[in-house]
Amino acid sequence: MTDDLLRENLRQLVNQRKYDLWFHTVRVVDVQPGEVVLSLGNRFLLDWIRTYYTEVLDRAVEATWGEPREWRLVVAESEQTAGGATNGELHEPLEAEASADTRPDPTPPVHVEPQRSAQDEVAWKNQSFFLHHSDVVLNDKYTFENFVVGPSNSLAHAAAYAVADAPAGSYNPLFLHGNVGLGKTHLLQAICHKAMASGRALKVLYLSSETFVNQFIVAVEKGELSQFRYRYRNVDVLLIDDIHLLANKERTQEEFFHTFNTLYHDQRQIVLSSDSPPSEIPSLRERLISRFKWGLVAEIEPPGFETRLAILRRKARDRDFLIPEDVLNYLAEHIDRNIRELEGAVTKVVGYAQLIHRTIDLDLARKALGQAGDSSATRMTGIDRILEVVCAQFDVRPSDLGGRKRTQSVAFPRQVCMYLARRLTPLSLEEIGVRIGGRDHSTVLYAVNKVRDRAATDSRFAQLMNELEAKCRA
Ligand code: ADP
Ligand code: MG
Repeated sequence: MTDDLLRENLRQLVNQRKYDLWFHTVRVVDVQPGEVVLSLGNRFLLDWIRTYYTEVLDRAVEATWGEPREWRLVVAESEQTAGGATNGELHEPLEAEASADTRPDPTPPVHVEPQRSAQDEVAWKNQSFFLHHSDVVLNDKYTFENFVVGPSNSLAHAAAYAVADAPAGSYNPLFLHGNVGLGKTHLLQAICHKAMASGRALKVLYLSSETFVNQFIVAVEKGELSQFRYRYRNVDVLLIDDIHLLANKERTQEEFFHTFNTLYHDQRQIVLSSDSPPSEIPSLRERLISRFKWGLVAEIEPPGFETRLAILRRKARDRDFLIPEDVLNYLAEHIDRNIRELEGAVTKVVGYAQLIHRTIDLDLARKALGQAGDSSATRMTGIDRILEVVCAQFDVRPSDLGGRKRTQSVAFPRQVCMYLARRLTPLSLEEIGVRIGGRDHSTVLYAVNKVRDRAATDSRFAQLMNELEAKCRA
């Protein structure tokens, strides 16, 4: 309650952008007659507010409690790392303060400067620059540690990592492209996190293309182009997300071209992301296209089955959810284009289980996705359904088909499954092989062709295949 009021008062006192940058983690943790204790999401925010916003906080506290009060800042308990990244004095157990009379020595004054190592000092400066010049707050979760690497994204990942490690080295510019939801923003922000924490003083700037365009327009209108130029041409690492949004924006492209040249010639790192390769961005000037190709152009492709499974496992683990393997398999099989959708599916399934107080199983997962109208889940036939239908037809067990048995009684139904999977699911040959008997893609290709050839010459067999297909779709 007071949390809300305090935050509302802060929002009134600073603008929304500053609020989002600095105050969004503020919580009231204790209120005593003479003093309120407020927590912040991390040490950095705490230091910053103590340095620059004491007056604002004075006024917000006064407005909230109707009278001036002392306040004290601590780092939120959940954010404290073992070994104490924070100043212990600043975070005494609150129980000790239950009564003002029994309180130990006066708590340290609010304005004590914390001890920082030289490395922290550099990181702090890097962050200050970033926060002052960017209009986004980096997502804490978008780190290299949280990025699951697979064949679809390993090149992009390796290049991004190398860039963060040694900016303006071999990959300049780095141009990442891929469809929406495949991890471009995640990698760009991971570069920011890593570069800023590297111990080297680096001016890092991460922008959406929209911001670049908007700021350019404003600068032109206000006649402040030189400030605009200075801001961008003075950084060590410039990352611009979704550069395809510059399509059709002639003047901004021109401006960006000059920014690019300056940074490049000063050996500063440039990282760009786009939903398509440079040459396929509509109406992008030829000279920009050729610039973008100077460095490394890496595509992020849709993840294969194994990678999807690994990502799902990671997301479930990160959120402490216990999701059975068969459910993870089901999700990985049905949601195959977009990692954001995979995350969404985990959330849906878990949310649904909590709502109806049931443990997560396959049946529940199907319902959760179906109920939420998940198009990819209802649109496609899953391998499980194909196995079910084929097993019923040939009187074998799904575990036999999934296993490595090579007897003819199993081999043929297995080939039929592969054929149907190829026709009814968007899975690749390789993925089908993994799911049906752990075969490689050439085995699957052989099976698919064999069944297809037989259907072409044997009309009764063709009819059987049609019937099976209809059953799978039902
Ligand atoms: P894009 O910018 O390409 O549209 P994002 O970077 O926003 O995609 O990624 C969408 C979501 O998927 C984010 O929550 C991101 O953390 C997650 N994600 C993408 N790729 C991976 C990966 N390889 N490992 C873990 N999470 C990923
Ligand atoms: Mg993005």
